[in-house]
Amino acid sequence: MFFCAFFFYGALSLAILNGISCFIYILLLATEKNNDPRNIIIAYYEILTFSFLGELLTEGTMGFLFFPMGMVAVIFYLAYVDAFKLFILQLSGFITTVLIFIITEKHIVLRLGPQVNFDDHRGLIILTNMIISLINIQYVSVLYKRDQEQTRAVMKYNNTHDQLTGLYNRRFFYEEMNNALKTTHTYSIAMIDIDGFKSINDTYGHKFGDVALTSLASLLMENVSEKDIVVRWGGEEFIIYMPDTSESQALQNLTTILNKVEKNQITIDNTTIHFTVTMGLSVSDNISNYEKVINDADEKLYHGKRHGKNRIISSL
Ligand code: GH3
Ligand code: MG
Ligand code: MG
Repeated sequence: MFFCAFFFYGALSLAILNGISCFIYILLLATEKNNDPRNIIIAYYEILTFSFLGELLTEGTMGFLFFPMGMVAVIFYLAYVDAFKLFILQLSGFITTVLIFIITEKHIVLRLGPQVNFDDHRGLIILTNMIISLINIQYVSVLYKRDQEQTRAVMKYNNTHDQLTGLYNRRFFYEEMNNALKTTHTYSIAMIDIDGFKSINDTYGHKFGDVALTSLASLLMENVSEKDIVVRWGGEEFIIYMPDTSESQALQNLTTILNKVEKNQITIDNTTIHFTVTMGLSVSDNISNYEKVINDADEKLYHGKRHGKNRIISSL
């Protein structure tokens, strides 16, 4: 746009300067590589140089000053460089801005080619430059904000979920329990442990073991109700927290799960295995007791392990 305007105005030196700029941008866009800050840095210095020379050719009257100012504000987000390099980049923009100010203040001018009087349109040109810079700042701010929100969401997910199975982790469970402290309701907690898991690992390899864990995790998720919370408690141990669930209800759900696990087959590279689980079930109506309830479920689970595995031990 500026190239055409300068050209038809007869401001040849500005038109050439702008033409070179456009050419550099096209070249940079064509060679743009993801996560490579080089093109951004070249574009940045091109903007600083263009702004400086543009003002030098026009006695500092075009408002190109807004470009380096805007770029100093946004370059931190655009260029993925270390703190020192970023400091140098921003300092360059800072110095360019001050130099342009001096050009304006001292009426310094480099006379190349025919001189054109822009007085009729100066306000419009300065306003355009200002708006371009403001849009630039606003646009990058929106990108930055979105990026930040995404990062926060990923961090929150990683903080509360187990990486392998995608189930909730202990931290999330404790948080959930502490939030539930004010409520009073009957709740059930089941502690679940895979039977003979070590021998699955030893016989078929760790990778197979991992697949068994994710397969069990999916099966658990598919067979609990929406309000229940399934947690990977440790290696091959899981907890299901069932709020507002009586012992008989919980036992019924767990029996379904126990049967489905027994029938569940896992195949990798033509090898098919299946495994069983043992569960301990404990119930309470006092949520502040939950650690005791977990211990009780754990004791029941080990009782089940000693008495043949592949079973559910509860008080019923
Ligand atoms: P039991 O029937 O008494 O429960 O015996 P078990 O072999 O299941 O229990 P044990 O505690 O002896 O072994 C648990 C194994 O789980 C040992 C450990 O290497 C394995 N394990 C823990 N976390 C992971 C994991 O993330 N992936 C895999 N593949 N194995 C794991
Ligand atoms: Mg175990
Ligand atoms: Mg086990």
